[in-house]
Amino acid sequence: MAVPLLDMSRQYAYLKNDMDKAVLNVLGHGRFILGPEVGQLEEAMAKVCGVPHAIGVASGTDALLIALRACGVGPGDEVITSNFSFFASAGVVSRLGARPVFVDIDPDTYNIDPKLIEKAITPKTKVIMPVHLFGQLADMDPILEIARKHGLKVIEDAAQAVGAEYKGRPACSMGDFGCLSFYPTKNLGAGGDAGMILCKTEEDYKTCKSLRAHGENPKYFHRTVGYNSRLDSIQAAILLVKLPYLRKWSEQRLAHAKIYNRELAGIKGLRLPVIKDYSTFHIFNQYTLASPRRKEIEAALQKAGIGMMIYYPLPFHKQDCFADLGYKPGDFPLSSQAADEVFSIPIYPEMTADEQNEVIAVLKRIVA
Ligand SMILES: *Cc1c(COP(=O)(O)O)cnc(C)c1O
Repeated sequence: MAVPLLDMSRQYAYLKNDMDKAVLNVLGHGRFILGPEVGQLEEAMAKVCGVPHAIGVASGTDALLIALRACGVGPGDEVITSNFSFFASAGVVSRLGARPVFVDIDPDTYNIDPKLIEKAITPKTKVIMPVHLFGQLADMDPILEIARKHGLKVIEDAAQAVGAEYKGRPACSMGDFGCLSFYPTKNLGAGGDAGMILCKTEEDYKTCKSLRAHGENPKYFHRTVGYNSRLDSIQAAILLVKLPYLRKWSEQRLAHAKIYNRELAGIKGLRLPVIKDYSTFHIFNQYTLASPRRKEIEAALQKAGIGMMIYYPLPFHKQDCFADLGYKPGDFPLSSQAADEVFSIPIYPEMTADEQNEVIAVLKRIVA
């Protein structure tokens, strides 16, 4: 039996009536960009994240870019982030003319290791940007403490962690800014690109709102140059239909993860995801294993029709585009090892017990 890595059509089949109605309703009212659904979604997501303000933008990447701008990041500044993430987490820093400063990971969680952050701080550092990879929040308390001590801003890259919790506190509620992506494969996925910035102060809210619309405030008056990063009403309408199910879907992912962790435990040479005690709600955007035999496992999974993907095959410091930052290949051993060994397997909420048993059986056969 083939098992896909992800099957978006099942969610649509489940919500077809409501989703069709919501999209057609936008086609009917015709306020396609920043229409009423965008405001409704902003209000709803602010509640989910436990913060007063939310700003809908065109993608998760734009959310990060605009949050960095709102922190005043520009040429000559440095931003500390994890060396192991989706490219956007580092790319946005370079796009602003600033320098991304990479920090190695905690091998248990693949998230930035707080113990290594202080060494990376210089007088040019403005922001620490932890990434909550695979749906588990980074260890935020020590990060917030370091930021306070050094007067730095914190931006949470929560693109993979909407609704996840750290010691009971939701993603995006701890940093000065939190950034979400509604890319279709995230736990809460739109029907295209979409993203959101969460923030705590009225001033930051106004800045981000202005930056998403060419820096205007008031309309057609510009003290600064911003972006065209407005959120489409159709995307917001789709997300509003899905949002009430987010908690249940993430719980289903977590339940699948616990079954994998039980069934795959004790297999030599296979590292399972670790759920930290501080991680009071891990939403498993990905279920990511690691093995020195990844190549062989990859080929066998493919042959058996089991979906798999490598998130991510190359850490930032080895990317060609960052060659001028002056890092050496051996600089970040733990993220390099992760990039060589990780692979993610199917964990979508609608995966059936039969499908999961098939994945488990095939994996056990391969590594036996
Ligand atoms: C998906 C993702 C982003 C970017 O989001 P887009 O909506 O695709 O622009 C940023 N950071 C991380 C960690 C992501 O997974």
